[in-house]
Order: sequence, then C-alpha cells, then structure tokens
Amino acid sequence: MRAEIIAIGDELVTGQRLDTNSRWLAAELGVLGVDVACHTTVADTLEAGVAAFQAAANQARIVVATGGLGPTADDLTRDVLATLAGVPLDLSTVALAAVEARFASRNAPMPESNRRQAMFPRGSRIVANPDGTAPGIDLDVHGAGGPCRIFALPGVPSEMRTMWQATVGPAILAMQPEAATVVQRRIKCFGAGESAIEAMVPGLIARGRDPLVGITAHEATITLRIAARGRNAVACEAKIAPTEAAIRAQLGPLVYGVEDEELEDATLAAVAGAGGTLATVEMATAGRVGALLAQAASRRGPEMDGGFAGGTVLPEDAGHDAVVLAARARREHGATWGLGVGAVRVGPDGRPVVDIVLESEAGASQVSHVLGGGPALAPVRAAKAALDLVRRTLLAGDSMAARPRAVRR
Ligand code: AMP
Ligand code: MG
Repeated sequence: MRAEIIAIGDELVTGQRLDTNSRWLAAELGVLGVDVACHTTVADTLEAGVAAFQAAANQARIVVATGGLGPTADDLTRDVLATLAGVPLDLSTVALAAVEARFASRNAPMPESNRRQAMFPRGSRIVANPDGTAPGIDLDVHGAGGPCRIFALPGVPSEMRTMWQATVGPAILAMQPEAATVVQRRIKCFGAGESAIEAMVPGLIARGRDPLVGITAHEATITLRIAARGRNAVACEAKIAPTEAAIRAQLGPLVYGVEDEELEDATLAAVAGAGGTLATVEMATAGRVGALLAQAASRRGPEMDGGFAGGTVLPEDAGHDAVVLAARARREHGATWGLGVGAVRVGPDGRPVVDIVLESEAGASQVSHVLGGGPALAPVRAAKAALDLVRRTLLAGDSMAARPRAVRR
C-alpha cells in the first residue's frame, strides 16, 4: 500500500520550524508495512492545499496530513478537504460538545472562532483528540488511481502522536489485506556509530524483509527496531526471535538493553548486579553522569536502590587527573567503584579528549574519549561513554581485569 505525507504550514515552508511530524509519521507507517512514497510541504493557502491533496490522492491509497486544523483564519485544512471532495462543511454537534467541554474544563469561555473546529466535510469521520481542541478528519475521496483515505491531524506534535497511536495507526493496520497483529522489539545499543552498527548486521536492514529491521540514532544511542506482522502475538514473537538472536550475536556487548531502557539503567543494573555501589566526580560532563544515574535510580524505585552512592561536580580548572577524581569519588561517597571524568584536554592528534577512569580497590580501567558531535551533543556523548565504561567493565565479570585499554595501579 502506498502512502503520502503532507505537512501544512507557512512556518514549515519558510523554514521557521522544522517539519518533525512527517519524519515521525513516515517511520510509523514503515512499521505498519506501508510504503511512503512522497512527502509534501505546503503553505497555508486554499490553492496550495487543494493542489497538494489532489496530487497525493491521485497517487496514493493513504494520505496522512498534519497542520492547519486550528481555529484561526490561516487554518484551512478543513476547507481544503471540503473543496477537494466537493462537499459542504457541516457542524458536528458531537465535536462541538467536545470542544466546548475542553474550554469548560479550563474555566474559559469558548471563542466563537473555535466553532470552526467542529466543522467537518460532509461524509467524513471525526478523529478524537484527547489532548487538544482540534479533532482530526478521516475522509474518503476518489483519486485518479482509485479510492484514497485521507487522515488530517493537528500540527501539534504531541497531539498528533496520541491520535496516531489511538486511532489512525490502528485504522491503517485494519486496511491491510492480511489485517494482522504487529509486534515490535527495540534493541538498544551503544558504543559504535549508526553506520558501523548497520555494517555489522549486513542483510538485516533491507526493505521488504520480514520481519522488518530499522535503525535510528539518538544522542549516540542506536536503536534497532524489529517489526513483525503475523496472525497473532505468538506468531510475531516467533518471527522476531531469530532476528533478535542474530543481532545480539553480531553486536555482542554493544547491545545494552531493550525497549525504553536507557544506557544509565543498564549501567546501574550492572553496578547492582556486581553487588556494589558507584559514585562519580565529574568535570567535563558537568554533572550529567550523576544526573543520569540519579534518574535511573529513581526509575528502579527505592526497593532497588543502592547502586548509585552520589556524585560531585568540579570546575574544569580544578586540575586533577581522572584517576585522582575516581579515587576521590569512591572515598567521598563511600562507594565500591569511583568514576572520574576529567577536564577536556588536547589529545595527541590535536583533538579534544576527556579521560574517564573507573577505579576500585582492585585497580582501574580507563578510556580516553574523543569529544565529538558538536557543542550540544559532545558532553552528552562523553557522559554516555563514562556510563558505558562502567557497564562494560562490570559485565566483563572480573570487574577490574585488564581489558585492552585498562591500566593497573
Ligand atoms: P497547526 O495545527 O497548523 O495550528 O499547528 C500547531 C502547532 O504545531 C504549531 O506550533 C506548528 O508550528 C506545529 N506544527 C505544525 N506542523 C508541524 C510539523 N509538520 N512538524 C512539527 N511541528 C509542526
Ligand atoms: Mg498552522
């Protein structure tokens, strides 16, 4: 099934705002096994809107659009769709009641302009919006190639996503010929780049493969998403298992977790699993490592507490090397392992590096992390590199055994 995506808004066309909705929707459609053939971005005018929807409806079985459903005069998507379908806009009393209830719940009078949000092209269905005033529109039209179903959602990313998950995604799934269950597994990795990881699982990330494997990167964390379609959840799991096993076999310790697990969760689990506590003293990462560990500790809940003993942040000019910082972390917080993150220094090849040391009574492991990813991302990556040093060292079992880059004191 072919789909197209339309993003509507002057702010998108002029470059004032990045169209993140289309990217998100394309990934979601891919997971449902729907091929996205085209993205279009159009301004807030009736002519541009009608032309874009007409072109899409001529080519695609499904069109998903976002934006232009607000109450103001430049929000024209409902008029565009009525024009396209050649039908009038009717007031929906059900939708009006929902919009009114939303204002009543905020103790605010409903502006007259918001009545527009209860107007729907005749024959369309309403897509409920639990998080906002603008409901979405679900409309069947006839394009040159046959029937086309259009879903128009509000531009606000969080509202759009909620409506997708509750209504639009399931509706599209039900349109598939072999309407079936879809099960996803996300495998989370850290320690190599997106393209390096892709190269380690050759053949898995191919279009049309069953189950489908996708790869995404966010702040140096790489997610492999396996999506299987089958008669039921058991059949999907059976398809996922060999692919997941192949990924784990190829990637080894690069895989730290699944689903929503973050690297700091895996690190803290490794600390707790090794039966001790961890403390930090940070310079270049300015407290990020400690903050991430504290968040992970609160996710684990008080009954699982004990992994993170505490953290200290020192200014970058305090001048200690990372070995001293790690020892200080252990001493200051009475922890089994101390993690020290030094100040940024210039590495042998002129690039900025940060030394990271994990130490215990038994010895120390050290990495020199090369900073990269730009000013916003570099400290985040360095913090994750520090967490990963702890995770990998402790999971290696013999907690301070010499690894290639380990030093003994
Ligand atoms: P609208 O539904 O057009 O009133 O948009 C509401 C809000 O969502 C505005 O702040 C838009 O900038 C934002 N928005 C609209 N379309 C997109 C998009 N494609 N990606 C990200 N944000 C968007
Ligand atoms: Mg808009």
